Amino acid sequence: MIVTRKIQIRPINKEHYKILEDYLRTCRLIANKSQTLFYVYWQEIMANNLKGKNIDAYFKERYQHSFKQTIYHILRPKHLEIPSRITDDTLNIAYKDFCNDLKNGLLKGERSLRTYNNGWIPVRSQTTKITKQNNKYILEWLKGIKLEVYFGRDKSGNQVVVDRILNGQSKFCDSKFIKKEKKWFLLLCVNEPEKENNLFDDISIGVDCGINIPAVCAVNKGYGRAYIGSSVLLTRFRMQKDQRQRQKNYISSSGMHGRQKVDRAIFKAQDFEHRYMHTFHHKISKEVIKFALKNRASKIIMEDLKRFGQNQEESEEKKKIRRFWGYQQLQSMIEYKAKLENIAVKYIPPAYTSQTCSQCGYTDANNRKQSKFVCLNPKKKCGFEANADYNAALNIAKGGIKKVNNKDV
Ligand SMILES: [Zn+2]
Repeated sequence: MIVTRKIQIRPINKEHYKILEDYLRTCRLIANKSQTLFYVYWQEIMANNLKGKNIDAYFKERYQHSFKQTIYHILRPKHLEIPSRITDDTLNIAYKDFCNDLKNGLLKGERSLRTYNNGWIPVRSQTTKITKQNNKYILEWLKGIKLEVYFGRDKSGNQVVVDRILNGQSKFCDSKFIKKEKKWFLLLCVNEPEKENNLFDDISIGVDCGINIPAVCAVNKGYGRAYIGSSVLLTRFRMQKDQRQRQKNYISSSGMHGRQKVDRAIFKAQDFEHRYMHTFHHKISKEVIKFALKNRASKIIMEDLKRFGQNQEESEEKKKIRRFWGYQQLQSMIEYKAKLENIAVKYIPPAYTSQTCSQCGYTDANNRKQSKFVCLNPKKKCGFEANADYNAALNIAKGGIKKVNNKDV
């Protein structure tokens, strides 16, 4: 399991700042130029209908090197100020990005050519060493560069991660140096062994995603529950709507006056929004895992909201979630963090989870009155009352509603 951590680093020798700055600038330049070159040479591949092994064979015959190496030999002579292995590693990362962009519709114009605004310096694990000296963690890199690994208040427990590398429990993988707001960081990649927790096979938790409360959790057995996150989503949705309107107005306006300015403003707002939601999802997913561990659940069950398109019963709320909330990011973060704890993640179809009584199984759209659930089962006087999202989460925790069957309940 590969884990990435962002940890501040501080050059011990002030002159090393300059080397890092220079390297970063060159790496960014190479990465950006390479995207254009990959694109240009890819046109040739397309024009000749090349595929798989044929690509490198063609390039070797025509340019004496494989596809990637051809780009390397164009860029390398112009940037001899950095070690060749850094050029090589930079191109490897840039090439992976390019291939991903190809898959995501670069050639069809569904996305534009990637630009690296901030850049990074690739850090090879073989040429990097972290040691502990008098309670300080020192990273030794190429050219005798020494950096202090600085944990600060260490809210995310980074020191433990580095300690595990030092004891040989986990493995240091190829990483990156990045610079953000005048500070340098190590984007540390670690291969961590999966943990063994003492979890119960028959305990699972259900997570209901909602707009008023982003994640409501319930345990299939007992009364455990958690209401995670506040109702920020409503405000965000409104903001997004405004932004879309602004973009629409902008596209339909023909004047070019101040266009760049507006462009930048839109980009800035989007960037802020993305980062905000990213942090928001991190916090929620962390709490969900905490809840699962507290209840020693071996399974987390969530709704597969993508499947909603296929059935008619879609509440207004879930419709909104599907359209405006990048809930997939939250779900994938939960998946990722669950895997680290050896907790399985399962998805169920979302139909009827909010209309069915979690106690007796009676299904009725009228069971739910906004945020309250009251069971209206006429035969048995069930009368179960609960927070509507909790009732849904409990249905999810129990594995979802397989079939609506009011006759037998
Ligand atoms: Zn009931």
